[in-house]
Amino acid sequence: MKRPVFAANWKMHHGPTDAREFMRAFLAHYPRQHDRTVLFFPPALTLHAVAEAIRERADIVLGVQNIYWEDKGAFTGELSAPIARDAGARVVLVGHSERRHVFGETDEQTGKKCAAAVRAGLIPLLCVGEKLEQRERGETEDVVLRQLRAGIAGLQPAQVGGMLFAYEPVWAIGTGRNATPDDASAVHAALRNALRVVVADKASTVPILYGGSVNRGNAVHLVRAPEVDGVLVGGASLDADGWAAIVRA
Ligand code: PEP
Repeated sequence: MKRPVFAANWKMHHGPTDAREFMRAFLAHYPRQHDRTVLFFPPALTLHAVAEAIRERADIVLGVQNIYWEDKGAFTGELSAPIARDAGARVVLVGHSERRHVFGETDEQTGKKCAAAVRAGLIPLLCVGEKLEQRERGETEDVVLRQLRAGIAGLQPAQVGGMLFAYEPVWAIGTGRNATPDDASAVHAALRNALRVVVADKASTVPILYGGSVNRGNAVHLVRAPEVDGVLVGGASLDADGWAAIVRA
């Protein structure tokens, strides 16, 4: 029986004032449910407002969208894993396509970030995904497996077994074009096989989420697909009623 994960990536949306209003509406539409996990990745400065709103809701988990790999020091503007943990985050997105393709984050840097997260007691949610031209050249598996291996390179198998993963094809993010459940399942199976080499049987229970233009209409089909353990949602997580409908479905 799956225990699906529904993760909301708010990107650079919802300051603390919006977030309080959002959470009031969302919590009214989403009573506690024990058979699924809900994660929120608000902007870092909004974390506190969301943490306050979910104080009574241990079923909802908070994360940050990015960290730097050093624990502290003269890195103006950066956010360390220990600071994120102290502020209430339990999970961190690493290697999101916008970090890779807008901010130039490299595979090696994602590895350092995953290692920094684990050191601080944060769970990395490592995102992997191919660009459209890579898909068209038949390179999807090569790309996502390379990103996977680089992301976990500095970790022990037991640490990898405690991570979360997301397959997020770049061509599907924010485009309204999602992978089909079959396509997503095939890539997830390849990722799980690669994880099996590292964590053996534990690979069958490591959550691998799908992300890329998930919405109210397609979420349930994607979550039900074999190998898909949940969804990572950007645009469709910004509206409280819509997000509650996705999570409840
Ligand atoms: C994301 O930001 O991780 C994402 C999948 O965005 P969207 O749902 O808007 O495609």
